[in-house]
Amino acid sequence: MQAERFRSWVLWKEEFSGNLAIFCSDERFANATFEFLRRHLGIERCDLMVVAGGPAFIPKNEIALMERVDLLLKAHEVKKVILIAHDDCGYYKHLHKDLPYQTIKRKQCEDLLAAITKLQAKGIQAKAFFAFVDSGEVVFEEVKP
Ligand SMILES: [Zn+2]
Repeated sequence: MQAERFRSWVLWKEEFSGNLAIFCSDERFANATFEFLRRHLGIERCDLMVVAGGPAFIPKNEIALMERVDLLLKAHEVKKVILIAHDDCGYYKHLHKDLPYQTIKRKQCEDLLAAITKLQAKGIQAKAFFAFVDSGEVVFEEVKP
């Protein structure tokens, strides 16, 4: 019996781009996020860390995940990190069940800024965005201090 096999149309590229994108696993935002990275930021390729809650683990200093980030920063010579949080995030809603939408959003933005600060302390260039839905389309807005 032959094992199922698939051959990709994408050509192999050996080198790393030095980019890393960290965002939430929420599939509703995934394809728009890839488009945003490519079409708006000009990032054709990047390492990915896609976990529930996205960059929330950075200000929380979740050791297991921070070890993975540090490994990527070093092994793949990451210079630039893109952090993306999003509206209606199940991770934040689970953590803050009774808080109103605006308070959760503020918390997410504070976490993004704290994550930027932590990455900058490691000598990494970091940018953060908040994704939300407007008229059925996903919009990415930069989060700045
Ligand atoms: Zn989420």
